[in-house]
Amino acid sequence: MVSTQPQITVLGSINMDLVVRCMDLPRPGETILAESSAEICGGKGANQAVAASRVGGNVRMIGRVGDDAFADVLLKNLMNEGVDCSSVRRTDDCASGLAVVAVESSGQNSIVVVPGANGRLTVDDVAQSRSQIESADVLLVQLEVPVPTILAAVEVAKQANVRVILDPAPAPSHLPEELLTVDVICPNESETAALTGRPVETLSELQAAAEALGESGQCRVAITLGERGTMLVESPGNLTHIPAVSIEAVDTTAAGDAFAGALAVYWAEGHPLPDAVRFANRAGAIAASRPGAQPGMPYRDEIEAWM
Ligand code: ADP
Repeated sequence: MVSTQPQITVLGSINMDLVVRCMDLPRPGETILAESSAEICGGKGANQAVAASRVGGNVRMIGRVGDDAFADVLLKNLMNEGVDCSSVRRTDDCASGLAVVAVESSGQNSIVVVPGANGRLTVDDVAQSRSQIESADVLLVQLEVPVPTILAAVEVAKQANVRVILDPAPAPSHLPEELLTVDVICPNESETAALTGRPVETLSELQAAAEALGESGQCRVAITLGERGTMLVESPGNLTHIPAVSIEAVDTTAAGDAFAGALAVYWAEGHPLPDAVRFANRAGAIAASRPGAQPGMPYRDEIEAWM
């Protein structure tokens, strides 16, 4: 059991989300007026770093921002959340990661993501931040930075016996086999379908897909099922369905990020994986019950109050 604050290193994306709200999404060639705009700090890596920090992790981020004005805002935001950004590098002649999100009154959205500096996170960056990975209790990674960089980080973690959690989002069409040898992989339903090429409509189909995923990489699999909770497969045949808590969903955008950050911290503290999933389910539910991605991330006491 880790008695001090667990060390969580997150390698991943840092984005500025530019959210515009309009009556109807523009059609190709059309110019429309929006009702409002907002700049919101996001990126799966940064979201999960904030989630892990709010639930009690000592969090360090490995990533890149550009040399634009957003870079300062993104770094300041992470540092205000208690995330150590000494391994976040500024990139010359490059924009920070950007997501342009248009939301129409029906709630339907369309999103353009520009990876920018996230796409410039290199294997050399991993080498320079080696000690940040080696001294971690858990390395947490997603798929919004280049795969060779993620592979290099996972390799450093393995050599140092550091546990790795992979949130395979956004859904990949192909994942190198080495990435399936992490300790825990936590896809949602559509990511599970993309990774396995199997149907995931029914619980028995999900179970088969989870077992296939676990067997192909010999990793533990936690498939997040939104309001249905999480299906955990720790070894072939050893399946637990951990139900969600009941909440009124307001904005489920970052439920998976809240889940991953909370899972990393609680598991790193030495709790058994099913208990960590139970804790993470609550984090995901609280995040889904509030608007906004990072602003809606729950704090430790809020999750414990629900347990
Ligand atoms: P993602 O955002 O990656 O698609 P999910 O929507 O599966 O991830 O959410 C992650 C976790 O958050 C779920 O496993 C569940 O425990 C919790 N969660 C998400 N949406 C809800 C909801 N509507 N009600 C209760 N819990 C939820």
